[in-house]
Amino acid sequence: MGEAGTLGGRPLFTARVNSNDLKTIPFNRTHLSPNELGYLTEAVGQGSTSGDGPFTGRASALLGTMVGGGRTLLTTSCTHALEMSAILLDLRPGDEVIMPSFTFVSTANAFAMRGAVPVFVDCRPDTLNVDERLIEAEITPRTKAVVVVHYAGVACEMEEIGRIARRHGLAVIEDNAHGLGGLYRGRPLGSFGCMATQSFHATKNVQCGEGGALVLNDAGLVARAEVIREKGTNRSQFFRGQVDKYRWVDIGSSYLPSDVLAAQLTAQLEAFGAIQSRRQAVWSAYHEGLADWATAGEVSQPVIPDGCVHPAHLYYLLLPDLDNRQALIAHLAARGVQATFHYQPLHAAPAGERYGRAAAEGCPVTERIADRLVRLPLFADLDAADAARVIDAVRSYEVV
Ligand SMILES: *Cc1c(COP(=O)(O)O)cnc(C)c1O
Repeated sequence: MGEAGTLGGRPLFTARVNSNDLKTIPFNRTHLSPNELGYLTEAVGQGSTSGDGPFTGRASALLGTMVGGGRTLLTTSCTHALEMSAILLDLRPGDEVIMPSFTFVSTANAFAMRGAVPVFVDCRPDTLNVDERLIEAEITPRTKAVVVVHYAGVACEMEEIGRIARRHGLAVIEDNAHGLGGLYRGRPLGSFGCMATQSFHATKNVQCGEGGALVLNDAGLVARAEVIREKGTNRSQFFRGQVDKYRWVDIGSSYLPSDVLAAQLTAQLEAFGAIQSRRQAVWSAYHEGLADWATAGEVSQPVIPDGCVHPAHLYYLLLPDLDNRQALIAHLAARGVQATFHYQPLHAAPAGERYGRAAAEGCPVTERIADRLVRLPLFADLDAADAARVIDAVRSYEVV
């Protein structure tokens, strides 16, 4: 083992400096909440660190309230919660699941792993969410579900999507990885689908490094979800004294996180209000500070429709084209600001072509915005001075 943080004597993590000798503003940095270290110490010392301990109960209860009261099961990731939802839907090979092309790979992978076919629909040019007007044309006798992603925590048109799903007898699943704390017409995101999935990955608003949750808004799914999460056994019932031994009763896997991670998550969830107000401040500073620059350069800023309250999960800009997007990222890097692009269209990815299919008209909006989108640093500990530095750095870029 070499010295920590080095590889063959070369530093792995160099504090990069720009020409003004200022530290680089990273794209993301995790926030340490007030109770985090205390709870971690407590969890490690409690004599048992496996899943479903006291902190798991506390984190689940806090989370349940935030997403509208559904039963919440902590999982090892949002990816795993999506996999559980796919098992719960009893998908058969060849069944179809409608979803946006503009999303993270796990949204599609979880269903492809069950042999189902992801059917990729284009997104709206304003919110970058799945275009609800394009869903119905893709429904076939094999369609079983619609998976929505509230991009940047801005709600999809859940009223219309709910109507379509009811008309055709389809399940709705919310991949709510961005949406914790978001509202649609006063109702929390994560409360609309029969199931919703949350992520507590280090890049999300509330995090424990790697973690997630499955929200069950249909009480009829709870018993089987508990079994799937516990390796296909009725161990949860056994611990509650409902059965005298636990046995293999269904398919499943090991989807429950250690109580140590749940301890970190409990502290983060308790600090949600403080985390959110700091993220909102950065988001608003960007939105206001870049408005006239964006208008002048024909750059689009995020659109928040009436009735949507978003949780400041990410801040993005849509440059006029790929060349300007790449040039802006390089321009910011040279000024010590780490900015990045985002999702590449799944329908055009190698595995997307192999396992899925695109809507008949393709996904032209997705292809355009994937090339044009840049995300700015956004995290709770980004202070006002650094936000101002980011704004100045962006404003000094001239769109060509
Ligand atoms: C982060 C993210 C995921 C995956 O979350 P993990 O917890 O890392 O598995 C899935 N979907 C979306 C939309 C995400 O942003």
